[in-house]
Amino acid sequence: MDIVLFGPPGAGKGTQAAAVCAAANVPHVATGDIFRKNLKEGTALGQLARGYMDRGELVPDQLVCDLVADRLSQADALGGALLDGFPRTVVQAELLERWLTAHGRRIDVVLNLVVPDEVLVRRLSGRRTCRACGASYHVDHNPPRTAGVCDACGAAEVVQRDDDREETVLARLQTYHRETAAVLPWLRARVAVTDVDGTLPIGVVQDLVHSALG
Ligand code: ADP
Ligand code: ADP
Ligand code: ZN
Repeated sequence: MDIVLFGPPGAGKGTQAAAVCAAANVPHVATGDIFRKNLKEGTALGQLARGYMDRGELVPDQLVCDLVADRLSQADALGGALLDGFPRTVVQAELLERWLTAHGRRIDVVLNLVVPDEVLVRRLSGRRTCRACGASYHVDHNPPRTAGVCDACGAAEVVQRDDDREETVLARLQTYHRETAAVLPWLRARVAVTDVDGTLPIGVVQDLVHSALG
């Protein structure tokens, strides 16, 4: 099953991803996580992505799409994947659809986390992220059990992402409205999209997401 977890930056996609993956038995494919891993490892891809990420802009479509096609071809993703943070433009959505169709697959489910901008700003400013595994925390709403240490993987690498500073947060929200919001009507025209109120508590959102998977 191929699932798209959609929503603006800070909507809770990363927070919900593990439970969705467990329920659907598919791997988590988060384009942002892949870029950050490459940045950390100093690869050419990481170098290329850095400027866009620092400015709160999108990495060019072709680059992202090649990366995703590659990832979806790996053995663990042959039965489907959870796409988190992709597609982010209509061009990406079209390329994804074309790739899936060519491989006898399709977008089976779209979960859309709905959260207003003012809530997103507070969430992103208070977000802390594990540099080792990508797990997402919040200083008030969802702190790790031990400060700075990841509950999921144990690494003492829970820090603020560079692009979660306030200036970049605002740029990212603008990018979302300018380029990504248009993906939603594109998806609605093709797939049943389940809207989930992402402002509810994390556990409640998880239950709603779970029931949407059937
Ligand atoms: P995304 O992956 O969509 O960018 P995250 O899952 O990283 O978003 O969540 C953004 C921030 O909001 C994190 O700090 C996270 O802990 C917090 N958060 C996520 N879901 C909720 C929720 N339902 N209620 C309150 N805070 C939340
Ligand atoms: P968030 O969900 O908090 O916005 P992500 O981790 O999904 O953050 O993405 C971080 C950054 O990585 C984005 O601001 C963008 O620069 C880049 N990025 C991630 N996914 C994509 C994508 N599908 N297309 C273009 N750029 C992307
Ligand atoms: Zn971790």
